[in-house]
Amino acid sequence: MKVPFLNLKAINQRDETELLAACERVVKSGWYIQSSEVSSFEQAFAEFCGADYCVGAANGLDALRLTLAAWKVLGLLKNGDEVIVPGNTFIATVLAVTDSNLVPVFVEPDPDSYLITVATVQEAITEKSRVIIPVHLYGQLVDMPALLTLAKQHNLLVLEDAAQAHGASLKGKKAGSWGHAAAFSFYPGKNLGALGDAGAVTTDDLKLAEAIRALGNYGSEQKYIHKYQGFNSRLDPIQAAMLGVKLTRLNDDIQLRRTIAQRYLSEINNPFISLPKNIDPECHVWHLFVIKTDHRTRLQTWLADNKVETLVHYPCAPHKQEAYAEYAYLSLPITEQLQHQILSLPIDPTMSEIQVSWVIDVCNHSLVSII
Ligand SMILES: *Cc1c(COP(=O)(O)O)cnc(C)c1O
Repeated sequence: MKVPFLNLKAINQRDETELLAACERVVKSGWYIQSSEVSSFEQAFAEFCGADYCVGAANGLDALRLTLAAWKVLGLLKNGDEVIVPGNTFIATVLAVTDSNLVPVFVEPDPDSYLITVATVQEAITEKSRVIIPVHLYGQLVDMPALLTLAKQHNLLVLEDAAQAHGASLKGKKAGSWGHAAAFSFYPGKNLGALGDAGAVTTDDLKLAEAIRALGNYGSEQKYIHKYQGFNSRLDPIQAAMLGVKLTRLNDDIQLRRTIAQRYLSEINNPFISLPKNIDPECHVWHLFVIKTDHRTRLQTWLADNKVETLVHYPCAPHKQEAYAEYAYLSLPITEQLQHQILSLPIDPTMSEIQVSWVIDVCNHSLVSII
């Protein structure tokens, strides 16, 4: 029995006919930039998230970057303002901040849910704070009602990093509809993945949506008239067409991921493995199923020896990366401990029940061999 971490080929094979038909439609259309493929996906995704507007971007990092840049041109942010980010996130969250000449302020997550909390965010607020970027890490929403109350008290903008949380919802409200804006990635391995790079921003703020769209199009709203010093970061029609097909399957895939997660949660019972805690099963979309163990190397080797592929998300926190040497002095004990303990088990909507059982068995029988 072999269990790959994520079988992208199998995932996309399920929609092969529709994907090829959509591809053919784009090829034959003669429109390869900013076509109706893009606007129809944007509309469908805004509706899916419960947001008024969706603006496509080239990728998730750009979706974050464009939003911060738009707040700057709209006069809501300026160079040197502070942006609160989780210490334990994928580096793109932080890259968007520093690329915009803003200053990241790292906060610790809750060690059980892996998510930032209002308490840790509150401690990080200073006179210079202007934005909070809650990352809905691994597929579960940060406590948005409480975070928004705090943000309002301090007049802070909230940009959800929803790259791992398409379809996750809290109190019936989805990721992408909570903050002043939300950035999504459609990187192929995300729960809603394109067949290449793609991203989008959702928001209810028309002015923001317009500024983002212009900034991603050389700062232009009208051809050859340039309002801003923008960039080129647009959603490709071909990827929009692929995403339109894949969006119709997203809810079913979330259910498949939940079924697997539920089995892991109820059937993995190895005292050396701690399962995700503080989980809201109604909310979590299980982009990743992340366990903790003090014996990670041995557990990961044991799983690999038994043909179960695992990964670590992420083995090195942004403030410990060479790219951010200026933050290496920071002490974020929870984040730093997590990076040594966490391990992501395979969770993929195309996994068979037998494969899920195999992962569970190998985890449960690792007791003798790993200790
Ligand atoms: C994937 C990801 C991004 C970046 O998205 P890309 O499309 O790869 O640029 C940003 N933030 C988080 C939390 C992610 O997981």
